[in-house]
Amino acid sequence: MFNVQSIREDFPILQTQVYGHPLVYLDNGATTQKPRQVVEAMVNQYYTANSNVHRGVHHLSTVATDMLEQSRETVRKFIHAASVDEIVFTRGTTEAVNLVASSFCQQEMQAGDEVIVSTMEHHSNIVPWQLQAERKGIVVKVIPMTDEGVLQMDAYEQLFTEKTKIVSVAHVSNVLGTVNPVAEIIRIAHTHGVPVLIDGAQSVPHMPVDVQALDADFYCFSGHKVYGPTGIGVLYGKREWLDRLPPYQGGGEMIGTVSFEKTTFNHLPYKFEAGTPDYVGATGLAAALDYVSAIGMDNIAAYEASLTQYALEQMAQIPGMRIFGPISASLTSQVDEYSSDNCQLSIVNCQLHRGSVISFLVGDIHHLDMGTLLDRLGIAVRTGHHCAEPLMHRLGIEGTVRASFGIYNTFEEIDAFVSGIKRVASMF
Ligand code: PLP
Repeated sequence: MFNVQSIREDFPILQTQVYGHPLVYLDNGATTQKPRQVVEAMVNQYYTANSNVHRGVHHLSTVATDMLEQSRETVRKFIHAASVDEIVFTRGTTEAVNLVASSFCQQEMQAGDEVIVSTMEHHSNIVPWQLQAERKGIVVKVIPMTDEGVLQMDAYEQLFTEKTKIVSVAHVSNVLGTVNPVAEIIRIAHTHGVPVLIDGAQSVPHMPVDVQALDADFYCFSGHKVYGPTGIGVLYGKREWLDRLPPYQGGGEMIGTVSFEKTTFNHLPYKFEAGTPDYVGATGLAAALDYVSAIGMDNIAAYEASLTQYALEQMAQIPGMRIFGPISASLTSQVDEYSSDNCQLSIVNCQLHRGSVISFLVGDIHHLDMGTLLDRLGIAVRTGHHCAEPLMHRLGIEGTVRASFGIYNTFEEIDAFVSGIKRVASMF
């Protein structure tokens, strides 16, 4: 059973006081806090098993190498990939998208070929394609969305031409919380013989993900958003694609043999891991995935859906409140307290409609003012365009206030957040 109080005890930073108030950390979409288990796993490795990996014959190097490969297996299991060869460690989601954009365009795309992204992408899934547009003359096409923040699937289907070579979309919007129908997006792309990259930065921390069930060709996420360390992330790629694509960066680890005449490349996944990998980061990431797996991704999805539903209910009662993103009728039923029954109900809603992200504005209060004044009450939210400027243009706004929830947030914290908004609103 989900026990939020015992989870909170694993996160020392949650004891922080901010301006005399207990910290209410609602900026999990930007990064999550780290449990002791993650920090201790990394400290232990530095204290007992630190050595560069893969090229050493000595004891410490062998131990560190085994730990890295064990971490890769933990990732494989977590997203249900078929093989560890399909798990590439990257610095994060951003590097993973850049890797695919660069290698895929080099090998598979000519000037005039097209990539399809969506209106609600993070800059990390726009700019890498635009760089390729400048370098190679590829064309970036965009799936439109409704005013409620739902992708228009009819329009999506019509974007395909014989020049469409890849689709790249977010699983969950970091601004709207929309859970995109990625299985359907992939299915449609495959009927056109087109592969799909899914940006899982905002989904992997919050719901079970099965890359084989989705039939994703590429899927990526960041460690730091799933209670792991910064500087490490994952690119999953189907073996057939990773085998086919050229390396992204050159250096140590990714080679077979090197001479000045000719270099051959290492087998998967090392072909895409140039240089010393962040092996301690990988240990921390594996500890984080073990941590959330022990709680259960279904339980996490259900609990966070209840929190989100409760927050939406409370927020909707504030005069002048404008919430961005899908709000379904099913989200208006009151959740008085957490129970597994409610959560079973909510998990369905969550998978259909929204993740644990709420972007909002109140009246004409500027998002920066709202964020700054909430901070004075100990409440940490993010303000601005959330690295999604094209989405802001579509919504006709400059920015929003964004609250995003994680496994350690409580219903009491939502109450504090809502009364904080009311207090700030009353000052204007
Ligand atoms: N994609 C989405 C949907 C995100 O929310 C983020 C970060 O907020 C990113 C990509 C980029 O992640 P990172 O900065 O960890 O590479």
